[in-house]
Amino acid sequence: MVYSASRWCPKMADLPQNPAVVIVGSGPAGLAAATLLAEAGVGPVIVLERAATPGGVPRHCAHSPYGLREFRRLMTGPAYARALVARAKAAGVTIHSGVNVTQLLPGPEVAVTSDVGPARIAARLVMLATGARESTRAQRMIGGTKPAGVLSTGALQALIHEDGLIPFRRPVILGTELVSFSALLTCRLAGIRPMAMIEETGRTTARKPSGLLPFALGIPLLTGTSVAEVEGRDRVTGIRMAGAHADRLGADGLIVTGRFRPEAALLPQSHLVRDPGTGGPEVDQFGRCSDPCYFASGNLLRPVETAGWCWAEGRSVGEAMLRTLKGTLAPDPGLRIGSSGVSAMVPQRIAPGTDPALDRLQIRVAVPSRGRLSLQVDGSEVAGRDLRALPERRIVLPLPRPDALQIEVRLAQDQQEGP
Ligand SMILES: Cc1cc2nc3c(=O)[nH]c(=O)nc-3n(C[C@H](O)[C@H](O)[C@H](O)COP(=O)(O)OP(=O)(O)OC[C@H]3O[C@@H](n4cnc5c(N)ncnc54)[C@H](O)[C@@H]3O)c2cc1C
Repeated sequence: MVYSASRWCPKMADLPQNPAVVIVGSGPAGLAAATLLAEAGVGPVIVLERAATPGGVPRHCAHSPYGLREFRRLMTGPAYARALVARAKAAGVTIHSGVNVTQLLPGPEVAVTSDVGPARIAARLVMLATGARESTRAQRMIGGTKPAGVLSTGALQALIHEDGLIPFRRPVILGTELVSFSALLTCRLAGIRPMAMIEETGRTTARKPSGLLPFALGIPLLTGTSVAEVEGRDRVTGIRMAGAHADRLGADGLIVTGRFRPEAALLPQSHLVRDPGTGGPEVDQFGRCSDPCYFASGNLLRPVETAGWCWAEGRSVGEAMLRTLKGTLAPDPGLRIGSSGVSAMVPQRIAPGTDPALDRLQIRVAVPSRGRLSLQVDGSEVAGRDLRALPERRIVLPLPRPDALQIEVRLAQDQQEGP
């Protein structure tokens, strides 16, 4: 049964019973699509956000750079999030915070819960833009005791910027992805002085100049080193390391950064096909899921990109949704693209049609890799290059023609580089 909004949620009395479009997630991707669709006049567009405040991850990243592509100026995360929300509202989008989407159903229809109970909302199209989250300590198999003071970057930023708390003074930062430097900047702004940054591989994952930041701040960057054990009963009292710097640091916290995974908890119970490589939904070059009434964009597709990239992708997939609503984008299951030697790729299908929303193949490797990356169409290489790649970095190839019979992305490794 589809409930009218006013029956279950007084805060949502203005929620249309059958909105044209439901967007799940109010980060840059979701808000960009919502704004575009509302400006195009498709009918009521609603955004459902489980957090108390809309804006996605940027709302508690109190540093720049955000906003250059979208607003042509350098902004902090919270200012950027507020500007995206204001732009969406000005376009006529209704944003409902504190509403958790719990199920995706054919129709399309979504089941939701909020502080006033459960409900279902039917629409003409649904976009999933639920973002990504960092791997946890458990997922990274870090041993030792389980004291307070082990946090992801996102949790650290929420504690500092939303709750005004300083969880530790001398933590260790694990990881050297872009987000790890966000953790470093957050610490600096909050008066926290990390004892070290630790990187399991032999070099920093983020490109220069980010890797120079710890040196500029006088914080040791220990490569070839992993966290073996966390010490402490109630609070962290030390970090034992293994590898090149097999030592102990008397730290009072550990920030476990990066190794993002799509926030795809809705997928296993749904009818949508999930891609084992990315962990997100399988999509074609229009961002269209295996059920063509569902679309997806942003970091849910492939962790992890910048906010500007996700915003642009949200707009492009929003345009594909607009074409679907107008009946100008033919529904098609698409040809699945094969792959070998790479860990993830998006889109995973190519369907007939021009003006793709995802205009390149976005590829990732799981381990530092070196070799020939090639795009094979009907048995011949149509694009390729010699590649030296690190995990978590963006690798792109041109999108193949939609009229091919067989498409494969191959990475033939010269050698697999050690950690
Ligand atoms: C710590 C950190 C620092 C960063 N710093 C920068 C930077 O300086 N510059 C930059 O360009 N990028 C930065 N990024 C990356 C950037 O923030 C992300 O790329 C961007 O926010 C991704 O947008 P998104 O719309 O895909 O998802 P998100 O911003 O993650 O938004 C997804 C939203 O979906 C909601 N949601 C999830 N599941 C549900 C559900 N079931 N029901 C309802 N709502 C749901 C979430 O609550 C969230 O609000 C940073 C990221 C992190 C984690």
